[in-house]
Amino acid sequence: MGLEPSEFREAAHCMIDKIIDYHEGLKSGGHPIPAVEPGFMKERLPSAGPENKELWQTVFDDVENVVLDGSVHWLSSNNYGFFPTGISYPSILADILCSSTANVGLTWATSPSCTELETNMMDWLAKAINLPDCFLHNGKGPGGGVIQGSASEAILMTLLAARSKVMQKELSRDPKQSIHEITSRMVAYASKCSHSCVERTSQVALVPIRLLDVDENISIRGSVLQKAIEEDRRQRKIPVFVCATLGATVSCTYDNLMEMGPICEKEQIWLHVDAAYAGSALLCPEHRYIAHGLQHVTSFNFSPNKWMMVNLDCSALWVRNSLDMENSLNVNPVYFQHKKQSNTIDYRVSFYRFQHWQVSLGRRFRSIKAKLWFVMRMIGLEGLRHHVRKGVGQAKLFEELVRSDNRFQVLFPVTLGLVCFRLCFPHATLEKINDLNLKLREEIEKDRQYVLTPSTVNEVYFLRFSAGMNFCNEESVRRCWEHVQEKSDLVLKSKI
Ligand SMILES: *Cc1c(COP(=O)(O)O)cnc(C)c1O
Repeated sequence: MGLEPSEFREAAHCMIDKIIDYHEGLKSGGHPIPAVEPGFMKERLPSAGPENKELWQTVFDDVENVVLDGSVHWLSSNNYGFFPTGISYPSILADILCSSTANVGLTWATSPSCTELETNMMDWLAKAINLPDCFLHNGKGPGGGVIQGSASEAILMTLLAARSKVMQKELSRDPKQSIHEITSRMVAYASKCSHSCVERTSQVALVPIRLLDVDENISIRGSVLQKAIEEDRRQRKIPVFVCATLGATVSCTYDNLMEMGPICEKEQIWLHVDAAYAGSALLCPEHRYIAHGLQHVTSFNFSPNKWMMVNLDCSALWVRNSLDMENSLNVNPVYFQHKKQSNTIDYRVSFYRFQHWQVSLGRRFRSIKAKLWFVMRMIGLEGLRHHVRKGVGQAKLFEELVRSDNRFQVLFPVTLGLVCFRLCFPHATLEKINDLNLKLREEIEKDRQYVLTPSTVNEVYFLRFSAGMNFCNEESVRRCWEHVQEKSDLVLKSKI
């Protein structure tokens, strides 16, 4: 096993001590962005791996210099960039456990608890965020959930399933059509403000995507979707898939499911909802209004590895009808066949066929299942709600601070943990204002002390403040705001 058991015990204890010290150090902020240039590591490493083993102590000694010194410290209380990334001690413990079993969850038979922990965790999670019952693996219907490695994979899986469903329908209508011809007529829809992975998914699945305009709330409206579908149908295109976003990455805004849902039902188009970030907020009853209309959707994904204290990777995907997934990716070679495959209970759907719900076959005990199990049990749903509420509270505080300084503007309603803001200048052109904010961002970046990610919507450039990392608190939020103000003073002075 590489190390003697006694050495492993000692090294593991030492690693845990190092982790705790590292985390404690990050609570005070510091510089989350490393001062390294591309290629820095080449100088710090030998040009090839060692022929003979080195002591674990020697390797650990290099962790600081080689790895941490060139890492972005995402856990720093000065990190308000992107969206939060999930971490917790229960999740780390589960990762250790999963690595230790070296299970490969190919099918139910290659490790029964691997599959069954997943189906059960997906039901726990679905109930925790109050998903409609049709998404549960309760044996009553064909719905259920599966864990994917990322939101991108979840969206890809649903698009492939939607494509395959339409293909079968077209071929049964007229078997003489060519598959190529049908594929070339397919089209999918998403908002201009959806995550870039939706566009990339469409490239992988060979279904061109039409990016729809949004209204002043950055939502796709029913009328816009309806018009696009009608235009496309007139040109003999086949609408296949709509991806709505709840909690857009750029702005944390929401597409209008109440309007889009009935249209997709009437037109028989797969409606997927990407709530990678905002999904965690559904743990809290007070935030569930953002998911109005979920009863109309065909599938739904959210990533506990963002805001639910589960380490990467863990993206939950539920579908209303799992047969759609299976028909799209069903292969059954003899080496994966086993006796329980033909179990007559409805569970069969989720147990045997789970292998068809994802691109990868081999999955580690997929730590993810145990991660969810440990996290939900050791933190509790109430503890997870507290984590979400803490992030929302910090965003509200930051919003208040921004609004109290009339040089700034808050751009979209602050509903969860994201505040989009920019410096404003009376009577200036959009170009000038964008330029000013670009400079502000450069000043902040140059300093390496705070991470704020910039973004644009409708050509407007702004900064995003994203709360929700574990070690951030009111005080660190106030310090961040003071930093933004200082840098703004600088930028405005040099401008005048
Ligand atoms: C983060 C995010 C994604 C991408 O997630 P990956 O897991 O990195 O693929 C997609 N959609 C939304 C709304 C996101 O916030």
